[in-house]
Amino acid sequence: VKYVYDFTQGDKDQKDLLGGKGANLAEMTRLGLPVPPGFTITTEACRAYLKDGAVPEELQTEVTVELRKVEDQMGRRLGDPADPLLVSVRSGAKFSMPGMMETVLNIGLNDESVLGLAAMSQNERFAWDSYRRLIQMFGKTVLDIDGDLFSDALEEMKADRNAAADTDLVAADLQELVGTFKQIVKDATGKDFPQNPREQMDLAIEAVFRSWNTERAKIYRRRERIPDDLGTAVNVQTMVFGNMGDTSGTGVCFTRDPSTGHSGVYGDYLMNAQGEDVVAGIRNTLPLATLETTDEAAYKELRAIMRKLETHYQDLCDIEFTIERGKLWMLQTRVGKRTAAAAFRVATQLVDEKLVTNDEALERVTGEQLTQLMFPQIDPEAEKVLITKGMAASPGAAVGHIAFNNAQAEQFAAEGVRCVLVRRETNPEDLPGMVAAEGVLTARGGKTSHAAVVARGMGKTCIVGAETLNINAEEGTVKVGDYVLTSDDIIAIDGSTGEVFLGEVAVQDSPVTTYLADGLEAGIAAADGDEATIDLIKSVDRILSHADKVRKLQVRANADTPVDSERAVDFGAEGIGLCRTEHMFLGERRPLVERVILSAPESTERTTALGELEVLQKGDFLEMLEVMNGLPMTVRLIDPPLHEFLPDLTSLEVKVAVAKATGQPVDPQDELMLTEVRRLHEQNPMLGLRGVRLGIYLPGLFLLQIRALSEAAAELKSKGLDPRPEIMVPLVGSVRELEIIRDEAEATIAEVASRYQVELDIPIGSMIELPRAAMTAEDLAKASDFFSFGTNDLTQTVWGFSRDDVEGVFFPTYIENSIFRVSPFETIDVHGVGRVVAEGVRRARESKPNIKLGVCGEHGGDPESIHFFAEVGLDYVSCSPFRVPVARLEAGRAAV
Ligand code: ADP
Ligand code: MG
Ligand code: MG
Repeated sequence: VKYVYDFTQGDKDQKDLLGGKGANLAEMTRLGLPVPPGFTITTEACRAYLKDGAVPEELQTEVTVELRKVEDQMGRRLGDPADPLLVSVRSGAKFSMPGMMETVLNIGLNDESVLGLAAMSQNERFAWDSYRRLIQMFGKTVLDIDGDLFSDALEEMKADRNAAADTDLVAADLQELVGTFKQIVKDATGKDFPQNPREQMDLAIEAVFRSWNTERAKIYRRRERIPDDLGTAVNVQTMVFGNMGDTSGTGVCFTRDPSTGHSGVYGDYLMNAQGEDVVAGIRNTLPLATLETTDEAAYKELRAIMRKLETHYQDLCDIEFTIERGKLWMLQTRVGKRTAAAAFRVATQLVDEKLVTNDEALERVTGEQLTQLMFPQIDPEAEKVLITKGMAASPGAAVGHIAFNNAQAEQFAAEGVRCVLVRRETNPEDLPGMVAAEGVLTARGGKTSHAAVVARGMGKTCIVGAETLNINAEEGTVKVGDYVLTSDDIIAIDGSTGEVFLGEVAVQDSPVTTYLADGLEAGIAAADGDEATIDLIKSVDRILSHADKVRKLQVRANADTPVDSERAVDFGAEGIGLCRTEHMFLGERRPLVERVILSAPESTERTTALGELEVLQKGDFLEMLEVMNGLPMTVRLIDPPLHEFLPDLTSLEVKVAVAKATGQPVDPQDELMLTEVRRLHEQNPMLGLRGVRLGIYLPGLFLLQIRALSEAAAELKSKGLDPRPEIMVPLVGSVRELEIIRDEAEATIAEVASRYQVELDIPIGSMIELPRAAMTAEDLAKASDFFSFGTNDLTQTVWGFSRDDVEGVFFPTYIENSIFRVSPFETIDVHGVGRVVAEGVRRARESKPNIKLGVCGEHGGDPESIHFFAEVGLDYVSCSPFRVPVARLEAGRAAV
């Protein structure tokens, strides 16, 4: 294998091998731009090093050869005492990991060559400044010495010499500082600072390799979903010097504003400085535009290069450069990171400038970015008191009173008072509180905890794992730092940063959301004359319209209520892919369900209770179908385990036991119920009596739903509306199950149709959420008009774990150990669960080529998963209303 490439050998598409920095240095070299010569050691070498714990032998030889080539080109030898060549050793992984890994400048300087450098440059100050920087950076990154020791010594020296900035120190000061730094190295490591230039270089290369596995790099990768096994490349590059006086300097710039997307000159410049100084904030930088007055020639050349790079990369570029005594050098470029707003605006600007097509513009933005634009935000200008920080789990801002439980949250909501639900952690029982609150804050749990996942699904701001919160829900207090807060206190949470503030903080609504819900004009009006925002809204509109034009996947929403359905349609949903009916059996209707269960089959009592439920459900369906007029609405028949509609076993047992112990008469109803609840108690409810199993076990339930739905549809039809219900049967494993329900359903629909004198065409389909269903899809298809993959349950049943039991418990450990890159409930596990989906699709189409195939469940709104669903050829995805625009965008991206 070849481990080393010089800058003339690679190009920008070789990021896997050369890392981002190396690939782009090669690209700029190929473009004929002024890049200091050097070479790149491949990521493959890094992987070999990390595996064996030693530098591969061939690498040493290749480095020697390449270094010699650079030395010949420059006419100087590394660290030559008379006229030294100096190099930088720079890390550069495939994906940029800002500030995560190491770079060492000025390698090749030692006690002798520093004098040579001083003589050749006729600049003693510069030479000693470079040497002290080398010892400082090398000490910190290669020798692992506490960096504060060096910067403290520098500060002390500045104080002692009355120097305002490091540039005020003179050559003698810096020479003295070199002595101090060398002593720091000696004290910390017991050894002298290495004087051999080649040894310096080799040690620095190894340090860069090792920096791949530092704790912070690992944490960063996990957060950014970057695989752990890529490794980093290492770039060895001839030094150029921005610290040679006032005709030298160093800077960073963007070809457009990365925060707003404005085109123009954006950057910072620092005279007489090296490398990190610009970003490190050592001295105040100057806006790049001032360079035009101080060095017009260099400025003009830089502007020309910026244009060239932007045209070449066809995108916003970010650039590092250095000017050495008036000569411009390019040290880095890449397609620049940008805010969500800038991403949309730049993409449409590039279309207008004919640099990219509409398809390409669509590829330049992401659903994640659109999500960010949709959340309200904490006003950045507002004054705030930070009280703690947790993990940013779901973006946006929420401000309100602290609510410690469901009751409190619901009471606040009922009074029209905003609140934030504060819990140690949440579980499904906290759902009402989460719904009522503006946002959720927990002390425990990670990004895949219940609170995080549910909040993201609901589009609610959420922070999890704010560990310093000491919550006493009973007492209604939360201690944090010196504060003791109660529900009288107001807090503000920023779900994009994880910050928690005390008191009322100003929040801004997102005009982008207004646009998405109410259209272009409304959005522009909401922007309130702000040009940048108006331009942003127009950009989003253009890109989203293009996505709608090219996408093949339809987008539906999961919605159970008329309000949610309306929002979904506003956001562009083309139907409802999942209308759950569980809530139609809860609340005040619960006693009716109890009566059904306690009564004998076919008794009058049971028939009456079922009848009453039917009337109520018909009302629910009427409202929903009216909102969804003309659009498909898939109704899932009741799914959860029966006992969820019954009283809690323990409290019932206690009630009966207490009555007996105190000698009071036991309510016979209670005793009957207790027997029933005990009988129906399940060890693994997720795998128990639920879905179609319940429908067959308790025949009246499904039937009442089907009749309620058919009647609602028939009634609207006779009024001239266009209801389009679809019946979906959950948890089917065998075609027989489906046939039984289908026969009943068809008879019922026919009966209702003739009674109302209308034509009713209600498709009947099956969910695919068991491996058996997917593997026998060709059979199920015969009795099914459509399939909807329920990938939440499918993930549970393919993996054999139950979500509620695993997510908060061992998922974090699994992610840490790279068993999961991300929770399989967040992004579909393509390799396992995905394969089952693909097989189901194949078998379904084999026996019924035109069968309509969709997916419901959280994956339907997840960008990565959407791309997978597009690839396997589904017809639609269904997701929560708030995710609909994101799904539209990603479905478009999947199609180009
Ligand atoms: P990072 O990835 O943290 O930006 P870099 O490898 O880009 O690290 O280097 C850190 C700083 O040192 C940058 O400002 C860069 O421009 C500067 N630098 C790197 N190599 C050289 C060089 N050969 N000559 C002059 N400056 C350099
Ligand atoms: Mg850099
Ligand atoms: Mg399910």
